[in-house]
This record gives sequence, C-alpha cells and structure tokens, in this order.
Amino acid sequence: MEFNPEEHSIKCPKCGHGMNEVTYGEVTIDRCSHCQGLWFDTGEADALKGKWMGDALDLGAKTEGRKWDAVEDVACPRCGKDMEKRSDPKQPHIWFEECPDHGMFMDAGEFTDYKHETWADWFRSLIRGAR
Ligand SMILES: [Zn+2]
Ligand SMILES: [Zn+2]
Repeated sequence: MEFNPEEHSIKCPKCGHGMNEVTYGEVTIDRCSHCQGLWFDTGEADALKGKWMGDALDLGAKTEGRKWDAVEDVACPRCGKDMEKRSDPKQPHIWFEECPDHGMFMDAGEFTDYKHETWADWFRSLIRGAR
C-alpha cells in the first residue's frame, strides 16, 4: 500500500510503502504492508525478551525477504540517515540494517530465523555495545 502519513506510522525504508503498527503485549513494532519487512525501534526487540513471537509477527516468506535483501542504501525511517548493514556473526546469512540511534530493519523471514537462537541476548549485547 502506498505510504500515507494518515494511515501508516512510517514509510518502509526498503520499498517505500507504508508500514503499520503491530502490537504484541506491551510491544509495538512496525510491519510493512508491501514487503512485510519489520522495523524495531531501539528497545522494542529487547522488550520482547524470551517470549519470542516471531511466527505471529513475521508473516513474510523467506523468498520474499531475500528479494528485498538486495536493496542497498537503506535510510532510517526515523532520521533519514543511511543505516549500517550488519549481520549476526553466528548467523552470517542473516543481514539487517541498523540505525545506531533509532533501531533496526529486518527483511521478511529473518526475524523467524532469529528466534531459534538466543536472539534477545544477542540483541541486548548489540545495543549495549552501540552506546
Ligand atoms: Zn517494504
Ligand atoms: Zn535513525
């Protein structure tokens, strides 16, 4: 769905379509209505802690995510700065984009991969390291 500021929370940094807020418990993340990518504000993924809801949140097929993985120069939806492309050293096939100030963007399917690891611990260490 085309980005509409009245309807969508943020504009998808990958495909430019609108992202909708998805609430789970006390955590709200943003999911793209088009490429199904996920945006986590800093602290949101941390707040999910051990209760991993990847299957519920991440509706994207891996093949779809892989297509969008090739998009370079992804700008932070909050501040517009180029985000850094990073990968998990333990799972180098998974790439995501990170803004050190605002959060991270994951392609469809990647979040589901992550929950098989102790992803929350890893994310916490990443956030600490960035500060
Ligand atoms: Zn998108
Ligand atoms: Zn930012």
